[in-house]
Amino acid sequence: MPAAVVVGAGTFGASLADRLAGEGWEVTLVDRFAPGHARAESGGETRLLRCSHGDDVLYTRLARRARELWLELGGGVFVESGVAWLVRREDGWEAESERVLRAEGIPVERMAPEEALRLLPGLSPDGLAHVLHEPEAGVLHAARGVRALVERAQARGARLELGEAEPEGGAVRVGERVLEADAVVWACGAWLGRLFPELVPLRVTLQQLTLFEAGPEWAGAGWVDFDGPWYGHAAIEPHGFKVAHDVDGPPVDPDARPLEAGEQAMRSAREYLAMRFPELADARVASAPACHYSLTADSNFLFAAHPGEPGVWLLGGGSGHGFKHGPAVAEHVASVLGGHTEPEPRFALGRRRPGRKLRTAGSSPP
Ligand SMILES: Cc1cc2nc3c(=O)[nH]c(=O)nc-3n(C[C@H](O)[C@H](O)[C@H](O)COP(=O)(O)OP(=O)(O)OC[C@H]3O[C@@H](n4cnc5c(N)ncnc54)[C@H](O)[C@@H]3O)c2cc1C
Repeated sequence: MPAAVVVGAGTFGASLADRLAGEGWEVTLVDRFAPGHARAESGGETRLLRCSHGDDVLYTRLARRARELWLELGGGVFVESGVAWLVRREDGWEAESERVLRAEGIPVERMAPEEALRLLPGLSPDGLAHVLHEPEAGVLHAARGVRALVERAQARGARLELGEAEPEGGAVRVGERVLEADAVVWACGAWLGRLFPELVPLRVTLQQLTLFEAGPEWAGAGWVDFDGPWYGHAAIEPHGFKVAHDVDGPPVDPDARPLEAGEQAMRSAREYLAMRFPELADARVASAPACHYSLTADSNFLFAAHPGEPGVWLLGGGSGHGFKHGPAVAEHVASVLGGHTEPEPRFALGRRRPGRKLRTAGSSPP
């Protein structure tokens, strides 16, 4: 039986441990903290799952496959609420998405802004050209999803070890112990750049979001205003109505970043809410978490062999849109580790041309 050590139990590492254990590997999964913890990028409340990726077919297919795998995981982790794109321009990113979704046979419908009130109660249609609806997209419960993946991995025989890991040649040191395996995969999120600074140039930024109190009458779809750039979802139990600004925040140390959003972030979320969902303008804040992105230059993920250590692999670069893809990326990685597929060239190490359109039209604040 081949053996693997996976370091990092975020969406990528937990999905991979689960996948490999299911394929009969002997798996040790290592993390500094219990799965779903608040310092991880995969922690916290919710993440959107959407197949729209502009004209990008690879990520469209990856998201669609991931959706199947999340549904298989079950446990209510994936809520098929639909995702509504609040489109400002007829010929923008969403039009490219719509073309690709139709070509891929993924359900999508275009509707007049007023019609979208049935998806998003209280939506103000002002300034919208139309709404693009992905009815089979939705919202994932994030920390809960990671825990469910780890639990299934354990049920499939994987061993979870809590402790800080460091590379030791081709092996993994955790305290006094050195773990060796046929494959070692470092899936350490924002910390990957610190562990392998000469190979992985990641930009780690502070991101803030606000969840507003809203009763069941405010339930509905996930939503994205790509050109805004804002995104969120209608009320989802037990978290509330989410509003988040999708520009890259300031650089941050993932070990020292705040766990709560600041006043300014909450104020601008409320301003957006007042503009787009005016009836909720005075809703109380339920919670306002902070998180971080681990950004590659071009927002493609990273998965590649370590050039100096046979059997060692690097996995990460979620770039603010990686959560949903975890199980599908893990399927690809497992296939590569099993010798059945070549690694996806777009995930390779090396220089990349800057770009962020897999996630947002927004830019970094000055
Ligand atoms: C505010 C916000 C909103 C987002 N919205 C979406 C969305 O709507 N849809 C979407 O798909 N994605 C979204 N994302 C992006 C997504 O959450 C990330 O891309 C994804 O969670 C990254 O997962 P990861 O496994 O790479 O990292 P992490 O979840 O950070 O996992 C890495 C793990 O490695 C562990 N680790 C690190 N170093 C070591 C070490 N030396 N020893 C042991 N363990 C170690 C850490 O403790 C951590 O648990 C969002 C992110 C944020 C912050």
